[in-house]
Amino acid sequence: MTSVLRLIAILSLLLVPPLALPDEGSVPSGCPTLEATDPAARASLMQYVCYYSAPPDAPGHMATDPEQLPEDLEWMPANGRDLVFSHTKSVYWVHLHVRNSGTERAGWYLKVNYPLLDEVTFWQTGDDTTETLVTGDQRPFASRAVDYRYFMLPVTLDGGETRSLTIRIHSNGALNVPLSFETAAEVIARSNHLTLTHGLFYGALLVFAVFNLLLFFSSGTGYYFYNAFYLAALGLFLFAMGGFANQYFWPDNASFANTSIPLSLSLCALAMILFGRSFLEVGNGTISETVLKGQAWFCIGFLALTLILPYNKTILLNTVLAMTVISSLFIIAAVRWKQGYQPATWYLLAWLIMLVGGLIYALAAFGYLTDFLAREALMQSAVGGQVILLNYAMVQRWRLLNQKLLDVEHSARTELEFKVHERTAQLRNTMRELEKANRKLSTMSLNDALTGLHNRRHLNNIFPELCAEARRTSQPLTLALVDADHFKNINDTWGHGFGDTCLQFIAEMLNRHVKRPRDVAIRFGGEEFALLLPGTDAAGALNVCAALLEDLANTPLLSPDGTEVRMTLSAGIASLNPGETQNQLFERADEALYRAKSEGRNRAQLSEAIEVE
Ligand code: GH3
Ligand code: MG
Ligand code: MG
Repeated sequence: MTSVLRLIAILSLLLVPPLALPDEGSVPSGCPTLEATDPAARASLMQYVCYYSAPPDAPGHMATDPEQLPEDLEWMPANGRDLVFSHTKSVYWVHLHVRNSGTERAGWYLKVNYPLLDEVTFWQTGDDTTETLVTGDQRPFASRAVDYRYFMLPVTLDGGETRSLTIRIHSNGALNVPLSFETAAEVIARSNHLTLTHGLFYGALLVFAVFNLLLFFSSGTGYYFYNAFYLAALGLFLFAMGGFANQYFWPDNASFANTSIPLSLSLCALAMILFGRSFLEVGNGTISETVLKGQAWFCIGFLALTLILPYNKTILLNTVLAMTVISSLFIIAAVRWKQGYQPATWYLLAWLIMLVGGLIYALAAFGYLTDFLAREALMQSAVGGQVILLNYAMVQRWRLLNQKLLDVEHSARTELEFKVHERTAQLRNTMRELEKANRKLSTMSLNDALTGLHNRRHLNNIFPELCAEARRTSQPLTLALVDADHFKNINDTWGHGFGDTCLQFIAEMLNRHVKRPRDVAIRFGGEEFALLLPGTDAAGALNVCAALLEDLANTPLLSPDGTEVRMTLSAGIASLNPGETQNQLFERADEALYRAKSEGRNRAQLSEAIEVE
C-alpha cells in the first residue's frame, strides 16, 4: 500500500512543478571543478553539478552527443539541491568537471542513484579521449558498466588530469537524478549497508508471506491467503521499483522490467481489496461489497491492459486505480470501525502509517527530503510498520474470535449446568409428589374408606406378624370378632345412607374403647369388625367388649325421621393358644360370635377353648 502512496507522489509530480530546483530565471553561478580527491567536496557534489533541461522544441532536445549542443548553452547550477524533474517530454543534460589533483592515477564512480530511467548515456571527455557508456532500464542489464541496480560510470583519472562528465537522460514518467561521486571503497561500503537493510526488509516480507500462507493451509482462513498474496505483490512492486527485479528477475527483458511495475501494482490493488473485504468482514449485498467487487474487476482489466498498452499509460491508469482502492478501503474500514467492529481499529492504524509513509515520499519527491537513499529507508520503514500492524490486526482478530468462542462455550456450559440443576430440582419435586401419592395410596389401600378403620388387607398383613410375635414372646394375643345385630333392618327401615352413618358411629365407638397403642380395630366386612389386641388375654378382651357393647346400647342415634335408634353388637372372643394357627384362632372367634348371636345377640362370648381353661 505504501508503494502505492509512492505512486500518489509520482502522480503529484505530474501536476505540481518541482520545488527542488532553482527558478529558471536565477543567475548561473558557474559549474566549478570538483576536486575528486577531496572527500568533503565529493560529499557536496551537487554544488559542482550543472544541468540543462531541453523541452521538445529546445535546441538541445534532438542532440544525441554533447558535441551537438549549442555553443551558447546556459548550464544551470544545481546549487546543492538534488535534481528532481516533473513528468515532461524533456531531455535532461547533466554536466560535471572533475580533477584528480593528486599525483597518482586513481578511480571513482559517478552514480545515478535511481533505477527507473529509460535512457542514460554517459560521456567522459579528457584532453584527448572521449568515452561513452549507453545504458538505461530500456536496455538489457548487461549494458551497464557495473552489475548494480543503479547506473554507474567508472571514472579513472591520471594525476593532475581533468575530465568533463556529461549525462543525457530521457525517461517516461517523473525523473529523479540523485547523484554521487564515490571511490570504490565508498561504493562497496554503502552497497554493503544497503544490502543489509534491503535483505532484512525483503527477507521479512518473504517470511511474513510464507508464514501467512502456512497459516492459510493449516486454518483454511481466507484472509491469511490474501495477506500472503498482498505481501508477495507488494514485495514484487517494491522490488521492481527499487531496480532489483530488473537486475535479478528479468535482466534480459527490459520491456517486461518496465511492465512489471504497473502489473505488480494492479496485483497489489487486487490483493488489497481481497484482504480488506475478508478481514473487515464486509457483508454480502452491502454498498461496500458492490464497490469493492467493481474495483476488483477493474484491477483484473487493468492487469490485462498492462500487457497491451505502453508503460507510461498503464502506470498512470494503475496509479489512479490504486488510489481509488486505497480511499474506498479507508472509508469502508472507518465505517466498520464506527459499526463497532474492533479489528478495524488496527487496520485503520496500519493505513495511517501508510499515509505517513506517503507524506514522507511526497516531501522527498518535492525536494524537502533530498536524500534519495534516506527516503528509500523511510519508505521501507513505513511499509514495514504497516505490514507489522496489519499482521498484528490479524492476531487481534484471531484473539477476539477465540474470546468469542470461549464465551460461547462458557455460556453453553453455564446454561447446561443451569438446566441440569433445574431438571434435578424438578425430578426431586416429582419424586416427592410421587412418594406422597404412594403414601396416600398405601394408606388408602390399608384403610376403609367409609369408617377410616383399617381394612381386611391390613388385617391379613398384621395378623400373621402378631401371631408370630405372640408365639415368640409368649405374650397373649386376643381376637374379637364383632358383628352388628340385625343391621339389615336399619338399612331396610332408614335406607343405606343412615346405615353408613351407623357404621361410622360404631367405628367411633370401637376407637373410643380400643385405646392401647398397639390395639388394632378393623372393619373386615359389611357390618363386621375385628379387634386385634396384642398383650391382652381373653378376660381383658371380654372386659373391653362388654364396655363397648354397653356403651353402644346406651347411646342412641337419631334416625332421619327423628327416631332414636339403639344399636347392639355381638362379639366372639378367642386368645391364641400355643401351637395354634392363625386360621384356627379366627375360626374359634367366629364360632364364639355365632354362639353370641344364637344366644340372643347383644353379648360377648368367649371361645370354648378359653372357657375350658
Ligand atoms: P344379624 O343380627 O344376624 O347379624 O343380622 P343382620 O341383619 O345384621 O345380618 P345380615 O348378614 O343378614 O345383614 C347384614 C346387613 O348389613 C346386610 C346389608 O344390608 C348391611 N350392610 C353390609 N354392608 C353395609 C354397608 O357398607 N353399608 C350399609 N348401610 N349397610 C351394609
Ligand atoms: Mg354379618
Ligand atoms: Mg349383623
